[in-house]
Amino acid sequence: MALTAAVQFENPMVLFHSIDAGMPELPSSLRVYLCGDQDELVESWMDCGGVILLHASTYTERLLKIQDHIAQTAPDAAVVVLLNYPDMRTDRLLEAGVQEVITHDTDVVSAIKTAKLRKERECVLQTFVSFDVLTQLANRQLFQDRLEHSLEQHKRQRKELALLVFDIDRFFRINEEYGHAVGDSLLLQVSDRLKIATRKADTLARIGGNTFAIVAENLQAANNVSIIAEKICGLFHEAFDLNGEEIHLSVSLGAALSKQSEYDPNKMIHDAEQAMQEAKQMGRNSYVLYKALRPEDRIRGSLERALYQALANDQIFMEYQPQVTMDGKHITGVEALMRWNHPIFGSVPPDQFIPVLETTGLIESFGMWGLTAACAQFKEWLDSGIVSSDARVSVNLSPRQFHQPNLAEQILNALDETGLPAKNLTLEITESMVMENQKEAAETLAQLRFEGIAIAVDDFGTGYSSMAYLKVLPVDYLKIDREFVKDIVVDSSDKAIASSIIHLAHSLQLGVVAEGVEGAAIQSMLQELGCDQFQGYHFARPVGAADIPAVCEGCV
Ligand code: C2E
Ligand code: CA
Ligand code: CA
Repeated sequence: MALTAAVQFENPMVLFHSIDAGMPELPSSLRVYLCGDQDELVESWMDCGGVILLHASTYTERLLKIQDHIAQTAPDAAVVVLLNYPDMRTDRLLEAGVQEVITHDTDVVSAIKTAKLRKERECVLQTFVSFDVLTQLANRQLFQDRLEHSLEQHKRQRKELALLVFDIDRFFRINEEYGHAVGDSLLLQVSDRLKIATRKADTLARIGGNTFAIVAENLQAANNVSIIAEKICGLFHEAFDLNGEEIHLSVSLGAALSKQSEYDPNKMIHDAEQAMQEAKQMGRNSYVLYKALRPEDRIRGSLERALYQALANDQIFMEYQPQVTMDGKHITGVEALMRWNHPIFGSVPPDQFIPVLETTGLIESFGMWGLTAACAQFKEWLDSGIVSSDARVSVNLSPRQFHQPNLAEQILNALDETGLPAKNLTLEITESMVMENQKEAAETLAQLRFEGIAIAVDDFGTGYSSMAYLKVLPVDYLKIDREFVKDIVVDSSDKAIASSIIHLAHSLQLGVVAEGVEGAAIQSMLQELGCDQFQGYHFARPVGAADIPAVCEGCV
């Protein structure tokens, strides 16, 4: 810290500047350096410390201004003012941070000593008031002062400033498990990494137990805040040392930008903290920018990065949900559903990660991996008699997968590789997919169907109202979406829709499967309406492969 800079010499350098009074007679024991203006004073003080001696004939506003400048740019410098004539207004100089005001040049040596001592004490006191004792970072008080001050400046200059607030995920567990001394040593390691990674001009503060903040000034572009956030999160990729044991930490970070927070310090802190809460809700180890982007996009950033590693790190697996005849007595097949278990996010629902796979194109590799895994698994169950020889595994295909020119070939290869007969595989496609890729889809599906693979239209009735595609597309099953099934017992229009889908399917000689059957009443109403099969929590939830034999027992 700079606090010792002004006091480290027994006989300090005197940085002298005279405003309007020429040169006084100074004792020869003093090492005096003459400065032409306030900037030179501050620069010289930064270089070699010392005590600043301002000389003027009397008190003037100009003198006060120079002192204000010193207090702002070199707040740890000790200042003595030597006036030729006493003045009633010297109090103002003391209030502005001058340590001593004298009117006789014979008093200079002792005034310099006193000023030096006073400043030293002030600095020590200030340290206690403004800095965190453990990490020596700015504390909440100083952080708030600086934020307020910087916001005013940035507002005037129409510049952008970012506030990043973050805390260490599940830090309380470390304190609980290893004790507070260990927790403190980790906090020190964290703050050391942060100090190295932040720019000198930025304020780095510890504003709570394990909560840190960075005020990043003069952003060139608003999206630079993402770069800083990434950098902070990146500091935690490497393990920390806990008495020889490696420990991995992560942070949840929220950031706010000055313009969006209307240059209001309280609002800005609130916005950044709210974004940090969002990051935690997302499963931690991530950052969220306050309102900088649409919510979907903000969440997407972290998921996307993690997804690139997910398959290679064995975080992806399949669950299986049985499909049964309407009486619930026979298993007709299972639907394979992809799962992602991230070590920090936990289990991420497919509704969140499948769309990201689609926009990034990762769905092509993940989809094919899932299909192959499901085929291999189902082949095993067929061979061991856990499912009947005409049962089918249903695999979801995403629209994006149809962009691959050799999709049919890849699927047939997967069958070859795993030994699963084509008649035991169903592909689930959606209406929207069919509409988006009509031509490619029709050709690919025709080829696959020719080989014996069945095609089911998923979420039927929720997509397009036009059913013309049913005339041209080769389809074997319609799946009634859960939307029309869940209230079928109480809502007569849902019942009418389900009933007409069943009729439509049967008149086109297609099978029909109801999704999301959660109770016995729903099951029997669908049975009455003539539905062929169903799946839903009422019979079984999707389960891991290991649980399927038990679920299927007695139902083959
Ligand atoms: P989907 O194809 O419509 O799958 C059925 C969804 O309904 C599954 O949600 C399943 O867990 C859920 N479900 C089943 N029975 C019930 C019930 O009785 N009540 C309720 N409330 N829900 C039930 P899940 O597993 O969360 O999957 C969501 C969606 O993610 C799937 O909808 C599908 O569109 C997509 N998806 C899942 N796995 C894959 C995959 O491997 N590839 C592709 N492309 N998409 C997948
Ligand atoms: Ca499905
Ligand atoms: Ca569905």
